[in-house]
Amino acid sequence: MTGGVLFDGHLDLAWNAQLGRDLTLDLVALRAQDPVAGQTAGVSFPELRRAGVAACFGTLFACPASDDYPQGYEQDGRDDWKGARRQALWQLDQYRRWQDDGLVRLLTTAGEVSAHLRDWDAGAPGPLGVVLLMEGADPMRSADDLDFWVRAGVRLVGPAWGRTRYAGGTDAPGPLTERGVELLTAMRESGVTLDVSHLDDAAWEEALRLQPKVVATHANSRAFVPGNRHLSDGMAGAVVERGGVIGLVALSTFIRAGWDEGDARVELREWAAHARHYGETFGWAHVGLGTDLDGGFGVEKAPAGVDRYLDVERLASFLPPEAWDGVRGGNWARWAGEHL
Ligand SMILES: [Zn+2]
Repeated sequence: MTGGVLFDGHLDLAWNAQLGRDLTLDLVALRAQDPVAGQTAGVSFPELRRAGVAACFGTLFACPASDDYPQGYEQDGRDDWKGARRQALWQLDQYRRWQDDGLVRLLTTAGEVSAHLRDWDAGAPGPLGVVLLMEGADPMRSADDLDFWVRAGVRLVGPAWGRTRYAGGTDAPGPLTERGVELLTAMRESGVTLDVSHLDDAAWEEALRLQPKVVATHANSRAFVPGNRHLSDGMAGAVVERGGVIGLVALSTFIRAGWDEGDARVELREWAAHARHYGETFGWAHVGLGTDLDGGFGVEKAPAGVDRYLDVERLASFLPPEAWDGVRGGNWARWAGEHL
């Protein structure tokens, strides 16, 4: 029914706005006045529309302080949930302002997603559908805050990014904290989906035990790239067993082990190899997109040939033709229609 739609499992739209990007612009105009240096934008609202993106999981992403982003919140050292919350609230408000302007439609139930995609499928596309995903749970003071965010529309939560107050994360090993256990328990009670992308191995098992409703919105395979940012076959199998979908990330460092800035861009077929590995091992019904194409990198770090969002479609020629509709969006659409 919804086989034809494009559904991206991971975009950081409001984060881009927070960086000063005007996503309402055409790509050419956006690039001409892009405040983000050194990252050529591949995503804007007109571009997503041109590419036929019907829906996505859109993040609330609080960025910890770093050399590149000194105004971020303090991730280590002090318990800066206020700083993280301030960023996430700003982003929530941004999605709402975009909704007021008719640029996005916030979707919160399986029925809303299905109805929204049905319109797109029938050739009567509405605005971009956005299901809110909190990436890194630090904006929550404690598990008691989950209710507030659920009422605001958040339907998926990834407890980690780097290490958060809830769990060990990418390149920052560690188990679920006591707070993390409380959060996962609350998520199960509220039916909020666990996004395991960024979750460290040491937190993995307990997290899935506490909340088995699980997806990986943007995670490539450890079969090609070692490290805790990527999924081992055991992890991917666990997501699939629980009915989840895994989104393919378009970032070169996540596609080829050892790829470094300045290297020639990776090939599309190498990105497709992650898809084929998942598809051939676990079934194509569980493979989707989670491009993250606006997630802190420009198209210079996307596979060669992906110079703008429109080019994501080129991945199709490296996949079995019968698998593409599902990977392109049908699998996320089915998942959201059944589980959200
Ligand atoms: Zn991420």
